[in-house]
Amino acid sequence: MRAARMYGYKQPLKLEEIPVPDIAPSEVLVKVGAAGMCRTDFQLIDGYFHANLPMEFPAVPGHEIAGTITRVGADVPADAGLGEGDQIVVFGPHGDRSCRQCHRGNEHICKRGQWIGFGPHGGYQEYVPIDYRQAIKTSTTLSPVALAPLTDAGLTPYRGLKKLRAAGVLRPGATLAVMGIGGLGAYAVQYAKLLGAGATVVALARSDEKLALATENGADHVINTRDKSDDQIRDALEQATGAREVDAVIECVGAEDSVRLAFSLLATEGAVASVGLVGNRIDMPLFPFVGREFSYFGSFWGNYTDLTEVVALAEAGQIKDSLTEVAFEDVNDHIDALGRGDFVGRAVIVYD
Ligand SMILES: [Zn+2]
Repeated sequence: MRAARMYGYKQPLKLEEIPVPDIAPSEVLVKVGAAGMCRTDFQLIDGYFHANLPMEFPAVPGHEIAGTITRVGADVPADAGLGEGDQIVVFGPHGDRSCRQCHRGNEHICKRGQWIGFGPHGGYQEYVPIDYRQAIKTSTTLSPVALAPLTDAGLTPYRGLKKLRAAGVLRPGATLAVMGIGGLGAYAVQYAKLLGAGATVVALARSDEKLALATENGADHVINTRDKSDDQIRDALEQATGAREVDAVIECVGAEDSVRLAFSLLATEGAVASVGLVGNRIDMPLFPFVGREFSYFGSFWGNYTDLTEVVALAEAGQIKDSLTEVAFEDVNDHIDALGRGDFVGRAVIVYD
């Protein structure tokens, strides 16, 4: 099978022919129909996670996988309902199933957990063994190309939006800002409309092309923040919504400046959910944070239930995608494009 493998940081992946992997008795083998390419893959290769997540080489990135089961391990219970030929998406995290987070259904934040594509070999190779409990069967009305990005780009902002909704900041008359219209933000805008309880949705980004996608995906207003001061952004907000502040932000960039702007625009009792991870630190003044009772939620990837909800929304035709297919042979070129951040929508690797 073909595999794009990582032999060290800051090097192009090596495209190789390697044997199809064996499976353990509790695993199924997935033929990857499509593997999403995430900015995180660029960061992985660039060494961003080096200190916290040491890798063994060769490593295989790719944590967004949809495909078809081609083998079922002997110990996979029949009532799991998984058989050869089934189309599935892969729930990427795999917890120890014994800690508190796992018992609460949050395997993705298990301290002893693993994430596919960040250790266990991911979808940048043609066949991937996974624990059968990571497989979520889907209908075949959607293609693997449409499904793969749902497992991270489509999942991560969904969980973030659920946190804002649980915080009680979304209601008619409120304004919800989506910051950054990259792979995650293009989905976040849609969840903002679906889960926003009638809040007005404003997309903020630094590119008109990305903002056009936000409009297409349902944003009520868009603001290009490039070269604008905070006050100029507030002027634009006021023109769009009648208010100079926002009640909630889903922050999909994760750069220090973007998080700073999110709090700078926040109304009293407002809340920010951070799902982006690009910078390393944030620095914010304590006074408005405490004195105006801001809330700040970190939100990481999503749990199994979140993913089943996202897949159900997609199957019901509620989620639009903006996808580009990348041939396996072109994977390194696209990793460079992810690093530049100038790509609109999501790219997925296809093998056929
Ligand atoms: Zn656990």
